[in-house]
Amino acid sequence: TSPGDRRQWESSYPDGIEWSTPLDTRPVHVRLIESCARTPSATALDFLGYKMSYRSLGRQVENLAASLQQQFGVKKGTRVALLLPNTPFYPVAYFAVLMAGGTVVNCNPLYTVPELEHIVGDAGAELLITIDLKQVFPKAEALLEHGTVKSAIVCEFATALPLVKRLMFSAFRRDDLADVDAATTADKLTKLSTLMGQNNKPAPVEIDPLEDIAVQQYTGGTTGTPKGAMLSHANISANMSQLELWGDGLFAPSAKVVAVLPFFHIFAMTVCMNLPLITGCQVIMLPRFELAPFAKLLRRTRPNILPAVPTLIAAIARAKGIGADELQSIEVAISGGAPLSHEVRDEYAKKSSTLLAEGYGLTEASPVVCCAALRNPSKPMSIGLPIPGTDVRFADIDSGEIVEPGADGELQVRGPQVMSGYFGDEEATGETLKDGWLRTGDVGHMDEDGYVFLVDRIKDLIICSGFNVYPRTIEEALAEHEAVEEVTVIGVPDSYRGEAPVAYVKVREGHSPKESELKSYLSDKLNKVEMPREIIFKEELPKTLIGKLSKKELRAEHAEMRDRT
Ligand code: AMP
Repeated sequence: TSPGDRRQWESSYPDGIEWSTPLDTRPVHVRLIESCARTPSATALDFLGYKMSYRSLGRQVENLAASLQQQFGVKKGTRVALLLPNTPFYPVAYFAVLMAGGTVVNCNPLYTVPELEHIVGDAGAELLITIDLKQVFPKAEALLEHGTVKSAIVCEFATALPLVKRLMFSAFRRDDLADVDAATTADKLTKLSTLMGQNNKPAPVEIDPLEDIAVQQYTGGTTGTPKGAMLSHANISANMSQLELWGDGLFAPSAKVVAVLPFFHIFAMTVCMNLPLITGCQVIMLPRFELAPFAKLLRRTRPNILPAVPTLIAAIARAKGIGADELQSIEVAISGGAPLSHEVRDEYAKKSSTLLAEGYGLTEASPVVCCAALRNPSKPMSIGLPIPGTDVRFADIDSGEIVEPGADGELQVRGPQVMSGYFGDEEATGETLKDGWLRTGDVGHMDEDGYVFLVDRIKDLIICSGFNVYPRTIEEALAEHEAVEEVTVIGVPDSYRGEAPVAYVKVREGHSPKESELKSYLSDKLNKVEMPREIIFKEELPKTLIGKLSKKELRAEHAEMRDRT
């Protein structure tokens, strides 16, 4: 669509808001510090009942930023990796890195050591900020031992947040804690508690929001190998501003936002952390999703905004312990990150009559591109309308020609939230960004009212419980087994996880492995979400005309098999 067609959807924006309403694109941490000054005594973070005020958040961010500059030499351009679950340390570390002038590299603590090494190594991160939990800390140690990072700061549950000590044992048991003093890499570790001096101020860093990279976020893009999407301060700040306009006062000091999605994921980073904290909301954190603690949290805090992924919506809809009472305070649930199925939408609607707004985005767009309008009912199965300041168009898959409304094509996006490119990868950048338009690898169309619908995905990516699973990782692991001659991994719909990986294997002559044998072989090579739901043996695997293993046919075959059963 040409910019003139924005009329199609502009009329669904809140009153007084237009496509061209100016956006605040100042540095991300500047907006946080302003927010801390605006409502200093309000609660910024609620972690299992432990509350941190905006005043305290601002001070801790400044303190840590000063230490990062003075003791670790963090300056403009320094990459700092975060390997943390959702705790108050996350926003403190994140904003401190930005304030010190550095670039955040968010890491998924569930990743295996080789996966982390790829990301942290590619980014050239010198410093890692992690936590003393047994599930996470040994991975940080491995990165230090292998020299992937030079030093690490360890946030300690027990000493840095004494007030939380008692509370935390309801979420983590004492034996979940790693013994940092006994670590083999102790000489490269600094405890956070030793850094938090009084009123230590960082030296101001001159940030050019359009040029300086706030976050380098790893994603497969359209080709599957994780690459660092470079998101500038202006990219991230613009996306917050666009969502503020979309929300029309939804994100405000009286609001409480549930943060159960992990902050290392771009969706939660923007919607559960950045946006709520710059608008003075209360962020209600849960370090991991479990039904009983989640139901308790809803009853205790009565939040009104629930950002979620379809898997979480499904879990809530199906949970016996979560009913109308638990959900009564929720004004809007936002589902994004993966397709929301009819079934899940209907199941959720049976429990809660409040709005379930589906949104769409991707790492390369910081991430939000489209979202259902808040005050106009969306259309069934639509991912909503482009948010203010965003243009979308659709290009024919084969010819690349821009197609008319209604016809399917690759979704392309233009807007201030679109990344500047992939770190150190000009080829991938050139393929993904052309003439200012981002090629998303997603296929869909726009109807005459401006609502966007997705139908397919060109890129090779499976989104499982909200996590990106790259088929190639599983294919490479399986291909190493002596009994495997060829392997192709596809994503199939999964009623609980949204999508799940299924592996098709052609067995080498003279071998007859069992599915269980291959699965146990994979158990120390893949993380839990990557583990194939099924391994199906086939005599031949379908190939494309140029001999590439074809996923399309296997997807069709699997769909047919599902329809039959
Ligand atoms: P990531 O960059 O990891 O956030 O993954 C982005 C990809 O998730 C998009 O390119 C889509 O393929 C998929 N995605 C995100 N939101 C939706 C949605 N609402 N419906 C369908 N797919 C989605």
